Amino acid sequence: MSGSLKLFSIRGIDIRVHFTFPILFLFAGALGYSLGSKEDMPAVGALVAILIICAIFVCVTIHEIGHSLVAQKCGVGVRDITLFPFGGLASLASPPEDPNDEWKIAVVGPLLNFFIALVLLTPFFLRWLPWVPREELKFPIPPTLSGILLWLALI
Ligand SMILES: [Zn+2]
Repeated sequence: MSGSLKLFSIRGIDIRVHFTFPILFLFAGALGYSLGSKEDMPAVGALVAILIICAIFVCVTIHEIGHSLVAQKCGVGVRDITLFPFGGLASLASPPEDPNDEWKIAVVGPLLNFFIALVLLTPFFLRWLPWVPREELKFPIPPTLSGILLWLALI
């Protein structure tokens, strides 16, 4: 896509970032800075906000790569994946001819999101497993990180 910069390539598919994408970092950084200022840690607030945006877009990229790899498997060409401030877009060379292929390409993205959420929620599930000793039930990760994991999983 024009107006974008190539980050890397996977199976011949360029992963690109649109020139408007840094606006999101500026917005999140400013928001994190102002929230961090209340705790006298504005730089930490800005850094955490930017890292959260990066984590979200790792998930978005995995989602779009899923669509693209299934499209390739169905014989549909993929031009590229572009990340915008509002999400990602996998550009297919043409629409799939078989409706079943279209369904497979569409469903794999949300399935990957569900899998990512399960992975992120694993520390929360551990406390309900009967074979985990009761002494181990204390949450193994700091509350701030657990909040971020839960928030990412819910997105
Ligand atoms: Zn999707």
